[in-house]
Amino acid sequence: MRWSQMFAPTLRDDPAEADAPSHRLLLRAGYIRQLTAGHYSLLPLAVRVRAKIIAIVRAEMDAIGAQEMLLPALHPAEPWQRSGRWDLMGREMFRLRDRRGADHALGMTHEEIFATVAGELNSYRQLPQSWYQFQTKFRDEPRPKGGLMRTREFTMKDAYSFDIDRPGLDASFDAYHGAYTRIFDRLGIPALPCEASSGTMGGSGSTEFMCPSDVGEDHLVHCAACGYAANIERATSVLPAVSDEPGLPTPERFDTPGVRTIEDLLAYDAPADRQIKTLVYILDGTLTLVLLRGDHPLNEQKLVDATGATALRAADPAEIRDALGALPGSLGAVGVSLPVIADEALRGRRAMFTGANTDDVHLRGVDVDRDIDVGLWADLREVAAGERCVRCGEPLEIQRAIEVGHIFKLGDRYARALGAEVLAADGRRVPVIMGSYGIGVERAMAAIVENHHDDRGIVWPLSVAPFQVVVVAAQSDDSEVAQAAEDVYTALTSTGVETVIDDRSERAGVKFRDAELTGIPFRVTVGRRGLADGTAEVTTRATGDTVKVPLASVSSHVR
Ligand code: ATP
Ligand code: MG
Ligand code: MG
Ligand code: MG
Repeated sequence: MRWSQMFAPTLRDDPAEADAPSHRLLLRAGYIRQLTAGHYSLLPLAVRVRAKIIAIVRAEMDAIGAQEMLLPALHPAEPWQRSGRWDLMGREMFRLRDRRGADHALGMTHEEIFATVAGELNSYRQLPQSWYQFQTKFRDEPRPKGGLMRTREFTMKDAYSFDIDRPGLDASFDAYHGAYTRIFDRLGIPALPCEASSGTMGGSGSTEFMCPSDVGEDHLVHCAACGYAANIERATSVLPAVSDEPGLPTPERFDTPGVRTIEDLLAYDAPADRQIKTLVYILDGTLTLVLLRGDHPLNEQKLVDATGATALRAADPAEIRDALGALPGSLGAVGVSLPVIADEALRGRRAMFTGANTDDVHLRGVDVDRDIDVGLWADLREVAAGERCVRCGEPLEIQRAIEVGHIFKLGDRYARALGAEVLAADGRRVPVIMGSYGIGVERAMAAIVENHHDDRGIVWPLSVAPFQVVVVAAQSDDSEVAQAAEDVYTALTSTGVETVIDDRSERAGVKFRDAELTGIPFRVTVGRRGLADGTAEVTTRATGDTVKVPLASVSSHVR
């Protein structure tokens, strides 16, 4: 590739709209351009990196025996209705009607659709199966953010395993766990496997791969002593008692106007699907029961899932009083009613649990659209300070992190709903046991940049770099130098080294700056002085080290 022909529109200055380093640098170095919030065009350099990431993920998927497929991005409503997620997904799901008036969605994940394909499996002898794809996902995120980190349209490698029983699922899950560890290692992303909650997926267990980063939107709790790591949503040890007040909730603890009793709460008419009504009980300092009458099942599911609490969906106040009365110990309670946008449920909920007093909690909930990150972070730090590891009792650290991958044990939920059943060895028809496994490709690209950059630009690991080498003619107006640079370029290219030659009639300084900004791992500089003794300079982007090497042996110094 010739730089003079390459479309890599680098910018002199930092773009004003970008905060996260990856966002800023990918814009500045000419990798991406925004079409509209949450939708980016990937320019040639980004497409090359994306292809490298995909190749690594694909190789590790193939290595554990997974088979690649490609399922549609546009889905009819029916499978989603059968699983119950047509409603559950709420406003995060892009929906549309075709010309016949039939409801459709743009796929935000593919459990239902893969389960439909799995309907063709008919015997335990065909199991286990492991299927994956690279497919565009669409999610109407409430706040697209950070360039490629959180977009409304992104490529996911999603994979699904199908086993005859639980031990089979455990083995599949472990295989993916191993593959993910190797993938993030090869991508140069220091990802920590963390205990996580299952969100709207449902299922018995899940592990998130979290890359510590100040610009991450998740928070993880980590014990340096024993290695315990969990998403803060899961790490119940950091949940404080909201109240240790004995007895049933007293009226003044309800902070929604007009809601003073359990009866009021149950009768309270939520204005829209954005509303959840929640009564949180703290038992002996630990969250034990959540009573909800959520009008939005997504919120309810997330809430229950994240806390490990029980949802009591009784409509009758007397029943609820009975249930509460049956609990041992002293009860403290706080009642909150939060206008929560579906995807903001987590934040609203966290604020709810971590706020020290109900007024704070209420204010946060109401204002959930704005400033929540700042407040939440402050809260969590406060809460976590002095908290101790559930495993070993040592102090916990809390840090921000980017979720780069997520693996789930789903069980039989989707198979039952979609009719993916096989004949077991004993002749009975049983639903297959599923797992699901996701990695965001462009988010991975952003996470790599977050971990590999300096004040001059991106520093790609060799494994994902768009080119391995840039050849620079220091004096491009000198025909002898230009020819020697061409020769080096040809030699490198012919031995399979991905090389770009900077043949622009720019000053060397400009070329060096662009080489650094775009993050190409090696720069080979051919100049007048070196030519005199038959050498070129090889500069390593990561260290800045430069070595003089004979022109003929350049290729052995750029690997
Ligand atoms: P988040 O908590 O950040 O919203 P998620 O838990 O909703 O992510 P999953 O449903 O677990 O995401 O999807 C699997 C992977 O897809 C994530 O681990 C992440 O790498 C990627 N991903 C999810 N949402 C986005 C997005 N909006 N933009 C880019 N990548 C995403
Ligand atoms: Mg999400
Ligand atoms: Mg998540
Ligand atoms: Mg996830």
